[in-house]
Amino acid sequence: LSADRPFILALDLGGTRFRLALVDQTGKLHRRFVALTHAEDGREQVLRRIKEAAREMTSSVGLETVQGMGIAAPGPIDPVSGVLLTPPNLPGWENTPLKSLFEEEFRFPVYVGNDANLAALGEHRYGAARGVDDFVYITISTGIGGGIISGGRLLLGAKGLAGEVGHMTIDLQGPQCSCGNTGCWEAMASGSAIARTAIERIKGGRESVITSLVGAELEKVTAETVEQAARSGDPLAQEVMAEAGTLIGVGLVNLIHIFNPRLIVIGGGVSKAGDLIFEPARRIIAQRAMPPFREVEIIPAALGDDAGLLGAAVLVLDNT
Ligand SMILES: [Zn+2]
Repeated sequence: LSADRPFILALDLGGTRFRLALVDQTGKLHRRFVALTHAEDGREQVLRRIKEAAREMTSSVGLETVQGMGIAAPGPIDPVSGVLLTPPNLPGWENTPLKSLFEEEFRFPVYVGNDANLAALGEHRYGAARGVDDFVYITISTGIGGGIISGGRLLLGAKGLAGEVGHMTIDLQGPQCSCGNTGCWEAMASGSAIARTAIERIKGGRESVITSLVGAELEKVTAETVEQAARSGDPLAQEVMAEAGTLIGVGLVNLIHIFNPRLIVIGGGVSKAGDLIFEPARRIIAQRAMPPFREVEIIPAALGDDAGLLGAAVLVLDNT
Protein backbone atom coordinates (compact mmCIF):
# COMPACT_ATOMS: atom_id res chain seq x y z
CA LEU A 1 0.00 0.00 0.00
CA SER A 2 1.35 3.39 -0.90
CA ALA A 3 1.34 6.18 1.66
CA ASP A 4 -1.21 8.20 -0.28
CA ARG A 5 -3.51 5.19 -0.71
CA PRO A 6 -3.52 3.67 2.77
CA PHE A 7 -6.97 2.06 2.71
CA ILE A 8 -8.60 -1.05 1.34
CA LEU A 9 -12.36 -1.22 1.00
CA ALA A 10 -13.50 -4.62 2.25
CA LEU A 11 -16.94 -6.16 1.75
CA ASP A 12 -18.20 -9.32 3.40
CA LEU A 13 -21.41 -10.28 1.65
CA GLY A 14 -23.46 -12.80 3.60
CA GLY A 15 -26.93 -14.23 3.15
CA THR A 16 -28.05 -12.53 6.39
CA ARG A 17 -25.76 -9.51 6.76
CA PHE A 18 -23.30 -7.56 4.71
CA ARG A 19 -20.34 -5.79 6.27
CA LEU A 20 -18.14 -3.05 4.90
CA ALA A 21 -14.94 -1.64 6.33
CA LEU A 22 -11.91 0.42 5.47
CA VAL A 23 -8.87 -1.62 6.45
CA ASP A 24 -5.23 -0.54 6.57
CA GLN A 25 -2.11 -2.61 6.06
CA THR A 26 -1.85 -3.53 9.75
CA GLY A 27 -5.33 -5.05 9.73
CA LYS A 28 -6.90 -2.16 11.60
CA LEU A 29 -10.51 -1.37 10.72
CA HIS A 30 -10.99 2.40 10.36
CA ARG A 31 -14.65 2.53 9.41
CA ARG A 32 -17.22 -0.18 9.73
CA PHE A 33 -20.76 -0.62 8.46
CA VAL A 34 -23.08 -3.58 9.06
CA ALA A 35 -26.60 -4.01 7.68
CA LEU A 36 -29.07 -6.78 7.04
CA THR A 37 -28.75 -8.08 3.48
CA HIS A 38 -32.50 -8.54 2.96
CA ALA A 39 -31.77 -11.00 0.16
CA GLU A 40 -35.54 -11.38 -0.35
CA ASP A 41 -35.60 -7.86 -1.90
CA GLY A 42 -33.66 -9.24 -4.85
CA ARG A 43 -30.16 -8.82 -6.15
CA GLU A 44 -30.49 -5.34 -7.70
CA GLN A 45 -31.81 -3.78 -4.49
CA VAL A 46 -29.12 -5.40 -2.36
CA LEU A 47 -26.35 -4.32 -4.76
CA ARG A 48 -27.71 -0.77 -4.77
CA ARG A 49 -27.63 -0.62 -0.95
CA ILE A 50 -24.09 -2.00 -0.81
CA LYS A 51 -22.85 0.47 -3.43
CA GLU A 52 -24.48 3.38 -1.59
CA ALA A 53 -22.90 2.41 1.72
CA ALA A 54 -19.54 1.81 0.03
CA ARG A 55 -19.67 5.19 -1.69
CA GLU A 56 -20.46 6.96 1.55
CA MET A 57 -17.63 5.16 3.32
CA THR A 58 -15.02 5.86 0.64
CA SER A 59 -16.00 9.51 0.30
CA SER A 60 -15.56 9.97 4.06
CA VAL A 61 -11.81 9.44 3.57
CA GLY A 62 -11.60 10.42 -0.11
CA LEU A 63 -11.98 7.88 -2.90
CA GLU A 64 -8.39 8.61 -3.99
CA THR A 65 -7.01 7.19 -0.71
CA VAL A 66 -8.41 3.72 -1.48
CA GLN A 67 -6.05 1.23 -3.10
CA GLY A 68 -8.63 -1.37 -4.06
CA MET A 69 -11.52 -3.49 -2.93
CA GLY A 70 -11.70 -7.03 -1.59
CA ILE A 71 -14.96 -8.96 -1.53
CA ALA A 72 -15.73 -12.05 0.54
CA ALA A 73 -18.83 -13.77 -0.78
CA PRO A 74 -20.53 -17.14 -0.37
CA GLY A 75 -19.08 -19.89 -2.57
CA PRO A 76 -18.79 -21.34 -5.03
CA ILE A 77 -17.02 -18.43 -6.69
CA ASP A 78 -14.63 -18.12 -9.61
CA PRO A 79 -11.87 -16.08 -7.94
CA VAL A 80 -10.23 -15.14 -11.26
CA SER A 81 -13.26 -13.70 -13.05
CA GLY A 82 -14.83 -12.68 -9.72
CA VAL A 83 -18.16 -14.26 -10.62
CA LEU A 84 -20.47 -15.72 -8.00
CA LEU A 85 -21.45 -19.08 -9.48
CA THR A 86 -24.31 -20.91 -7.71
CA PRO A 87 -24.42 -19.66 -4.10
CA PRO A 88 -27.01 -21.74 -2.16
CA ASN A 89 -27.18 -18.98 0.48
CA LEU A 90 -27.95 -16.19 -2.00
CA PRO A 91 -30.72 -17.49 -4.25
CA GLY A 92 -31.10 -15.43 -7.43
CA TRP A 93 -27.41 -14.43 -7.45
CA GLU A 94 -26.28 -17.14 -9.88
CA ASN A 95 -23.52 -15.89 -12.21
CA THR A 96 -23.30 -12.41 -10.66
CA PRO A 97 -20.10 -10.71 -11.95
CA LEU A 98 -19.21 -9.05 -8.63
CA LYS A 99 -15.70 -8.04 -9.68
CA SER A 100 -16.70 -6.21 -12.84
CA LEU A 101 -19.80 -4.65 -11.24
CA PHE A 102 -17.70 -2.99 -8.54
CA GLU A 103 -14.79 -2.14 -10.85
CA GLU A 104 -17.20 -0.25 -13.08
CA GLU A 105 -18.60 1.55 -10.05
CA PHE A 106 -15.35 2.54 -8.31
CA ARG A 107 -12.55 2.39 -10.91
CA PHE A 108 -10.12 0.66 -8.59
CA PRO A 109 -9.04 -3.00 -8.70
CA VAL A 110 -11.47 -5.46 -7.12
CA TYR A 111 -10.65 -8.98 -5.92
CA VAL A 112 -13.23 -11.57 -4.96
CA GLY A 113 -12.95 -14.76 -2.92
CA ASN A 114 -14.97 -17.41 -1.15
CA ASP A 115 -15.79 -16.07 2.34
CA ALA A 116 -14.45 -19.07 4.24
CA ASN A 117 -11.26 -19.14 2.14
CA LEU A 118 -10.74 -15.46 2.90
CA ALA A 119 -11.46 -15.96 6.60
CA ALA A 120 -8.61 -18.50 6.53
CA LEU A 121 -6.35 -15.84 4.96
CA GLY A 122 -7.45 -13.35 7.63
CA GLU A 123 -6.73 -15.77 10.50
CA HIS A 124 -3.34 -16.54 8.93
CA ARG A 125 -2.25 -12.90 8.62
CA TYR A 126 -3.88 -11.34 11.68
CA GLY A 127 -5.54 -14.01 13.83
CA ALA A 128 -5.28 -17.41 15.48
CA ALA A 129 -2.95 -18.93 12.87
CA ARG A 130 -0.32 -16.18 12.71
CA GLY A 131 3.04 -17.80 11.95
CA VAL A 132 1.50 -21.19 11.11
CA ASP A 133 1.83 -22.09 7.43
CA ASP A 134 -0.04 -25.40 7.44
CA PHE A 135 -3.50 -25.20 8.89
CA VAL A 136 -7.12 -25.92 8.17
CA TYR A 137 -9.74 -23.31 8.94
CA ILE A 138 -13.37 -24.29 9.26
CA THR A 139 -16.36 -22.15 10.10
CA ILE A 140 -19.46 -23.79 11.55
CA SER A 141 -22.68 -21.81 11.54
CA THR A 142 -25.76 -22.43 9.37
CA GLY A 143 -23.44 -24.43 7.13
CA ILE A 144 -19.79 -25.47 7.26
CA GLY A 145 -17.18 -23.68 5.19
CA GLY A 146 -13.44 -23.97 5.07
CA GLY A 147 -10.11 -22.80 3.79
CA ILE A 148 -6.83 -24.69 3.59
CA ILE A 149 -3.50 -22.96 3.96
CA SER A 150 -0.70 -25.26 2.85
CA GLY A 151 2.93 -24.16 2.77
CA GLY A 152 1.75 -20.63 3.59
CA ARG A 153 -0.55 -20.41 0.57
CA LEU A 154 -4.29 -20.66 0.21
CA LEU A 155 -5.18 -23.85 -1.65
CA LEU A 156 -7.37 -22.88 -4.63
CA GLY A 157 -7.59 -25.96 -6.85
CA ALA A 158 -8.03 -26.11 -10.62
CA LYS A 159 -10.94 -23.67 -10.78
CA GLY A 160 -10.40 -21.83 -7.51
CA LEU A 161 -13.16 -23.80 -5.81
CA ALA A 162 -11.12 -25.74 -3.24
CA GLY A 163 -12.02 -25.80 0.43
CA GLU A 164 -15.74 -26.59 0.20
CA VAL A 165 -15.24 -28.94 3.13
CA GLY A 166 -18.90 -28.75 4.18
CA HIS A 167 -19.89 -30.82 1.18
CA MET A 168 -17.67 -33.82 1.75
CA THR A 169 -19.88 -36.87 2.07
CA ILE A 170 -19.94 -38.31 5.58
CA ASP A 171 -22.94 -40.66 5.19
CA LEU A 172 -24.52 -41.65 1.86
CA GLN A 173 -27.83 -42.23 3.66
CA GLY A 174 -27.58 -39.04 5.71
CA PRO A 175 -29.92 -36.04 5.78
CA GLN A 176 -30.59 -33.74 2.82
CA CYS A 177 -28.09 -30.94 2.18
CA SER A 178 -28.76 -27.52 0.61
CA CYS A 179 -26.47 -28.54 -2.28
CA GLY A 180 -28.84 -31.34 -3.33
CA ASN A 181 -26.77 -34.24 -2.00
CA THR A 182 -27.41 -36.24 1.14
CA GLY A 183 -25.16 -36.78 4.12
CA CYS A 184 -22.77 -33.87 3.52
CA TRP A 185 -20.74 -32.80 6.57
CA GLU A 186 -22.74 -29.58 6.88
CA ALA A 187 -26.05 -31.45 6.69
CA MET A 188 -24.89 -33.53 9.67
CA ALA A 189 -22.79 -31.30 11.92
CA SER A 190 -23.65 -27.62 11.28
CA GLY A 191 -25.72 -25.36 13.51
CA SER A 192 -28.80 -26.15 11.39
CA ALA A 193 -28.15 -29.87 11.86
CA ILE A 194 -27.87 -29.42 15.64
CA ALA A 195 -31.20 -27.58 15.76
CA ARG A 196 -32.90 -30.05 13.41
CA THR A 197 -31.73 -33.10 15.38
CA ALA A 198 -32.94 -31.64 18.68
CA ILE A 199 -36.35 -30.78 17.19
CA GLU A 200 -36.73 -34.26 15.66
CA ARG A 201 -36.02 -35.96 18.98
CA ILE A 202 -38.39 -33.71 20.93
CA LYS A 203 -41.10 -34.36 18.34
CA GLY A 204 -40.30 -38.05 18.76
CA GLY A 205 -41.30 -37.80 22.41
CA ARG A 206 -38.09 -36.87 24.25
CA GLU A 207 -38.36 -34.51 27.20
CA SER A 208 -36.10 -31.46 27.12
CA VAL A 209 -35.80 -28.01 28.68
CA ILE A 210 -35.41 -26.80 25.07
CA THR A 211 -39.20 -26.94 24.69
CA SER A 212 -39.75 -24.35 27.41
CA LEU A 213 -36.77 -22.24 26.30
CA VAL A 214 -38.62 -21.55 23.03
CA GLY A 215 -42.11 -21.36 24.57
CA ALA A 216 -43.04 -24.65 22.88
CA GLU A 217 -42.46 -23.06 19.44
CA LEU A 218 -39.99 -25.67 18.24
CA GLU A 219 -39.33 -23.92 14.91
CA LYS A 220 -37.50 -21.27 16.98
CA VAL A 221 -34.88 -23.74 18.20
CA THR A 222 -31.35 -22.81 17.10
CA ALA A 223 -27.96 -24.35 17.82
CA GLU A 224 -27.59 -21.67 20.48
CA THR A 225 -30.76 -22.85 22.24
CA VAL A 226 -29.41 -26.40 22.28
CA GLU A 227 -26.05 -25.19 23.60
CA GLN A 228 -27.74 -23.21 26.36
CA ALA A 229 -29.85 -26.23 27.35
CA ALA A 230 -26.76 -28.46 27.33
CA ARG A 231 -24.96 -26.08 29.70
CA SER A 232 -27.93 -26.20 32.07
CA GLY A 233 -27.52 -29.99 32.24
CA ASP A 234 -30.30 -31.06 29.88
CA PRO A 235 -29.54 -34.69 28.85
CA LEU A 236 -31.08 -34.50 25.35
CA ALA A 237 -29.23 -31.25 24.54
CA GLN A 238 -25.97 -32.69 25.87
CA GLU A 239 -26.45 -35.78 23.73
CA VAL A 240 -27.13 -33.71 20.58
CA MET A 241 -24.11 -31.44 21.16
CA ALA A 242 -21.84 -34.43 21.85
CA GLU A 243 -23.00 -36.16 18.67
CA ALA A 244 -22.41 -32.97 16.67
CA GLY A 245 -18.93 -32.65 18.18
CA THR A 246 -18.20 -36.26 17.25
CA LEU A 247 -19.39 -35.69 13.67
CA ILE A 248 -17.30 -32.53 13.45
CA GLY A 249 -14.39 -34.66 14.62
CA VAL A 250 -15.12 -37.26 11.92
CA GLY A 251 -14.81 -34.61 9.20
CA LEU A 252 -11.65 -33.29 10.84
CA VAL A 253 -10.13 -36.80 10.87
CA ASN A 254 -10.58 -36.84 7.08
CA LEU A 255 -9.06 -33.37 6.66
CA ILE A 256 -6.15 -34.23 8.94
CA HIS A 257 -5.24 -37.25 6.84
CA ILE A 258 -5.47 -35.27 3.60
CA PHE A 259 -3.69 -32.05 4.59
CA ASN A 260 -1.55 -32.96 7.62
CA PRO A 261 -2.17 -29.59 9.31
CA ARG A 262 -0.29 -28.36 12.38
CA LEU A 263 -3.37 -26.50 13.51
CA ILE A 264 -7.13 -26.52 13.05
CA VAL A 265 -8.86 -23.19 13.60
CA ILE A 266 -12.60 -23.30 14.15
CA GLY A 267 -14.77 -20.21 13.70
CA GLY A 268 -18.46 -19.49 13.20
CA GLY A 269 -21.31 -19.27 15.70
CA VAL A 270 -21.21 -22.95 16.70
CA SER A 271 -17.53 -22.65 17.72
CA LYS A 272 -18.73 -20.54 20.65
CA ALA A 273 -20.08 -23.77 22.17
CA GLY A 274 -16.40 -24.40 23.00
CA ASP A 275 -15.66 -27.67 24.76
CA LEU A 276 -19.18 -29.03 24.20
CA ILE A 277 -17.99 -29.41 20.58
CA PHE A 278 -14.19 -29.39 20.88
CA GLU A 279 -13.92 -32.19 23.47
CA PRO A 280 -15.83 -34.89 21.52
CA ALA A 281 -14.05 -33.75 18.34
CA ARG A 282 -10.62 -34.13 20.01
CA ARG A 283 -11.65 -37.55 21.37
CA ILE A 284 -12.58 -38.92 17.94
CA ILE A 285 -9.37 -37.52 16.44
CA ALA A 286 -7.35 -39.23 19.18
CA GLN A 287 -9.14 -42.48 18.33
CA ARG A 288 -9.13 -42.34 14.54
CA ALA A 289 -6.24 -40.25 13.24
CA MET A 290 -3.18 -42.36 12.50
CA PRO A 291 -0.60 -41.78 15.25
CA PRO A 292 1.83 -39.56 13.28
CA PHE A 293 -1.08 -37.23 12.42
CA ARG A 294 -2.41 -36.77 15.95
CA GLU A 295 -0.21 -33.86 16.94
CA VAL A 296 -2.63 -31.27 15.75
CA GLU A 297 -3.92 -28.45 17.87
CA ILE A 298 -7.59 -27.45 17.65
CA ILE A 299 -8.27 -23.87 18.65
CA PRO A 300 -11.05 -21.31 18.26
CA ALA A 301 -10.73 -18.58 15.63
CA ALA A 302 -9.59 -15.16 16.86
CA LEU A 303 -11.13 -12.64 14.47
CA GLY A 304 -14.84 -13.33 14.95
CA ASP A 305 -17.09 -11.48 12.51
CA ASP A 306 -14.13 -9.53 11.09
CA ALA A 307 -12.36 -12.59 9.61
CA GLY A 308 -13.94 -12.24 6.15
CA LEU A 309 -13.29 -8.49 5.97
CA LEU A 310 -9.66 -8.90 6.99
CA GLY A 311 -9.17 -11.78 4.57
CA ALA A 312 -10.67 -9.67 1.78
CA ALA A 313 -8.12 -6.98 2.65
CA VAL A 314 -5.28 -9.54 2.56
CA LEU A 315 -6.43 -10.54 -0.94
CA VAL A 316 -5.96 -6.95 -2.13
CA LEU A 317 -2.68 -6.47 -0.22
CA ASP A 318 -1.21 -9.62 -1.78
CA ASN A 319 -2.36 -8.76 -5.31
CA THR A 320 -1.56 -5.05 -5.62
ZN1 LIG B 1 -23.84 -30.50 0.47
